Amino acid sequence: MNLDEKISFILRFAQMDLTALRRSSALEHLRAQFHEFFMRKGEDLTSTVKALGFLAIADESPKPEEFTQDQFESLQKETMRLMNGGGGEVPVTTQVSTVALPGFGGIPTIMLMKGPTRALFLLSCSLVLTRPEIAARLRRCPARHARQPGRKCDKMFLRIRKQQFCSKTCANRVSKQKERGRT
Ligand SMILES: [Zn+2]
Repeated sequence: MNLDEKISFILRFAQMDLTALRRSSALEHLRAQFHEFFMRKGEDLTSTVKALGFLAIADESPKPEEFTQDQFESLQKETMRLMNGGGGEVPVTTQVSTVALPGFGGIPTIMLMKGPTRALFLLSCSLVLTRPEIAARLRRCPARHARQPGRKCDKMFLRIRKQQFCSKTCANRVSKQKERGRT
């Protein structure tokens, strides 16, 4: 995953309906994506390290591909707490070290964070939500809620180019409403 894909994954995970994980295929799919979030093989990490300030090494059990539905649910609650701002403290413990990697995107020394998957994910979330260059691209979807009239969709998403809504579904709903308004 590149940096944008990682940010989008965090936002999607925080706001997804985890009851679907009762289907084992859905759980497997989420585990695979979660694994990819941390995977480093053959990936250009410089943009992620530059944006977040560290390289995450999730080397403690449970590893991303071992997360259970319960562990995903509690991780989602903690992610939401960070997303809402002022939602309270989330404890994280990691091991920090620095390493000089000549030629790594012109960064002379990079910070490594090693530890539990949960801690590294929550650290990444808090940085994604607060780094000015990323936060400036985060938006709340202004489309009307699909099932609850009078409410907005309000999902948080990473704006790509001139994107206005969180998903194609929301964009389509809005354009249909506009068409109906015209006739
Ligand atoms: Zn939406």
